[in-house]
Amino acid sequence: GGSRIFEVAVVAPDARHTLIVTHDVTERRRIDDMRRDFVANVSHELRTPLTVISGFLETEVEQPGAPSALLMHHRQLMVEQTRRMKRLLEDLLMLSGLENADEPGSDEPAVIAMPKLVEDVVREGKALSNGRHEITMEVEDVSLIGQPEEIRSAAMNLVSNAVRYTPDGGSIHVVWRRQGTGAIFSVRDTGIGIAAKHIPRLTERFFRVDKGRSRATGGTGLGLAIVKHILRRNGGELGIESELGKGSTFSMRFPESRIFRPIG
Ligand code: ADP
Repeated sequence: GGSRIFEVAVVAPDARHTLIVTHDVTERRRIDDMRRDFVANVSHELRTPLTVISGFLETEVEQPGAPSALLMHHRQLMVEQTRRMKRLLEDLLMLSGLENADEPGSDEPAVIAMPKLVEDVVREGKALSNGRHEITMEVEDVSLIGQPEEIRSAAMNLVSNAVRYTPDGGSIHVVWRRQGTGAIFSVRDTGIGIAAKHIPRLTERFFRVDKGRSRATGGTGLGLAIVKHILRRNGGELGIESELGKGSTFSMRFPESRIFRPIG
């Protein structure tokens, strides 16, 4: 939808003819804009931690002999910022890897024992939550056909988001079960929820409803963009239901063709 952009060229092959050539460049412009935004976002995300780190290092060099308790405090802050840059680079590498491998068949799919994977992810979620939430799960013995590491990473992203966006004392419920002829993995939380107008933008790179909360809990703003790519490569679909102030349910739905059925 929306207006379209055309490039118009006038060509005069000879004195008697004039040719007007138009090209619809709407899509090319859109991609150019997206690329520009992406580069601007990455630069900005890297500049902030680098400013903090270089600021502290310069202070140390210029004012040697600062109290060691203060130095230790500065170093802790530098470690945090270094971790933040590392997370960002890891997510960027993951995203570009997923995009480069977008052609189907670039990796061999495998049979994934989902109950084990879901248990692992829930255990990691509990470690992240550190007792601040009640985390429960419900799993059916259904195996999925897909890329194990990608599915694990997508599931972990949804669980860690639930932990990060649910205030202490809230609950999180993780489910893997058959649904219709396919199967569904879902994470329901009693967290902060998302206003309806933001839901369509959640899988955009670097889109965050609340930048402060995302950063404070170690977010890169790339998690759901990664999940979306993973699902596209694994035949799944992302579902998002949410109510502001009540909580959210994020789900990954897989069709029948992705469910492993042992013969016999
Ligand atoms: P981030 O690193 O910022 O968490 P994501 O791509 O994983 O990046 O998520 C994008 C945004 O979607 C988040 O910044 C947050 O605003 C919102 N979001 C994701 N999961 C939840 C959730 N379970 N509850 C509330 N908001 C969420």
